[in-house]
Amino acid sequence: MTHKLNILIAGAGLGGLAAAVALSIDGHHVTVLEAASEFGEIGAGIQVTPNVTRILHRWDLAESLGRYGCTPETVTQLRWDDGTQLTRFSINRDGRMEREYGYKYYHIHRKDLHRMLLETAQRRGAIVKVNCGVVHYTTSSEGLPQAVVTQDGFRHSADLIIAADGCRSTLGRFVVGSEIKAEPTGDSAYRALLTRQQVQDAELEIPELASGSVVWLGPGSHVVGYYVDGGRLYNLVIVVPTGDEVNEESWKLPGKMERLRAHFAGWDPRLRRLLSKIDKSLLWNLYDRGGLSQWVHPVGNLVLIGDAAHPMLPYVAQGAASAVEDAAALAECLKLVSEKCSLREALTMYARLRIPRTSAMRTAGQKNRVYFHLPDGPEQQQRDADLQKYDETGETPNQLNNSKVLAAMYGYDIVKDVRREYEANQAI
Ligand SMILES: Cc1cc2nc3c(=O)[nH]c(=O)nc-3n(C[C@H](O)[C@H](O)[C@H](O)COP(=O)(O)OP(=O)(O)OC[C@H]3O[C@@H](n4cnc5c(N)ncnc54)[C@H](O)[C@@H]3O)c2cc1C
Repeated sequence: MTHKLNILIAGAGLGGLAAAVALSIDGHHVTVLEAASEFGEIGAGIQVTPNVTRILHRWDLAESLGRYGCTPETVTQLRWDDGTQLTRFSINRDGRMEREYGYKYYHIHRKDLHRMLLETAQRRGAIVKVNCGVVHYTTSSEGLPQAVVTQDGFRHSADLIIAADGCRSTLGRFVVGSEIKAEPTGDSAYRALLTRQQVQDAELEIPELASGSVVWLGPGSHVVGYYVDGGRLYNLVIVVPTGDEVNEESWKLPGKMERLRAHFAGWDPRLRRLLSKIDKSLLWNLYDRGGLSQWVHPVGNLVLIGDAAHPMLPYVAQGAASAVEDAAALAECLKLVSEKCSLREALTMYARLRIPRTSAMRTAGQKNRVYFHLPDGPEQQQRDADLQKYDETGETPNQLNNSKVLAAMYGYDIVKDVRREYEANQAI
């Protein structure tokens, strides 16, 4: 029988709430401490790949996913300047994702996924407190249990503390013992939403918009668009080189429309027409911190999940996916806590399983960044020739359609992985 623990989670983003769902389903007593005063603007679209759908189904969220998510049929990749189709491959068309990986691929509004997780966690008994930013962590000493201190000076103790406080994690530095250095990647992402009506006339020129993801690949930049909110809104992620005027790390800088439009001046006129409909956007200046090699505090029961452990850049859509996998993995490892397996051993096993997996996803993202952003020249010509040649074969350098890469990424089942690891290593 699982040992029931008192668990504190710092951060109510997708990772923290996913952990709250998984752990409250398992009967643990869960409290989530969130720094923000309310859940306001929390971004736009999220691609929920089959490895995440598998987990959300286990948490009984299949119906909500079906209600709020869109199921893209295809991905179409286009050349930047004239919109030539480079490739078009199936996602859900002819049931490809379900047939190959067991589950569908969804596009969903972040606020919908966030709300689904929040409501499920609360229904399962988790307590979520806002205005509760965590500022400090202390290990147990002199008879006092380990605890976090929140901005109001209050001490909160628990058997287990989970740091899900994002890429600028406060608790991360207590785990690694020093500040975690952030480096600008040189890229920024504009995020914008259009209404279906705004996009509909563009659909006449770009019929692929209606059937799934459309991606324009160009030198140093790319644009991804897809429907969310059951098809009512169209999400755009536009990655460009960071301009001189942006020198701070933020998710929420107001995007300057003149700069965005000027950057795309020589691009596919159909894309420019689509971009001309955006009247406001948020700019996310992308920083990298590298994946941490230590996820568990050296002596305390403090563990990292999500971007706090492995900040991900948006090139293979596996950031939130990895945060959800972390949550499921941690819950599965905690099921092993017993007379034979201590809490710390379970935490060590969690980190041992998750570090290589998330580091592989980070590497895939870095590879995609280069692949997407090739300047015109011999490498780009080779890439485009490959894209055109390998539409449905799955043996392509295009990671997003390569059957081996996708089997590892989308076919992955964290629950099976934990069990395999446990059986292989009974002496954890
Ligand atoms: C443009 C873009 C597009 C993306 N698209 C995708 C995609 O399609 N699919 C995908 O899987 N991933 C995507 N990602 C990545 C994904 O957004 C992140 O990896 C994911 O949000 C990480 O979740 P998290 O819960 O770990 O962190 P966050 O979402 O950052 O949540 C952290 C939470 O902790 C709170 N917090 C911070 N500090 C404290 C503190 N001291 N105390 C208490 N609370 C605190 C914050 O307010 C926040 O609520 C994208 C990223 C970008 C930049």
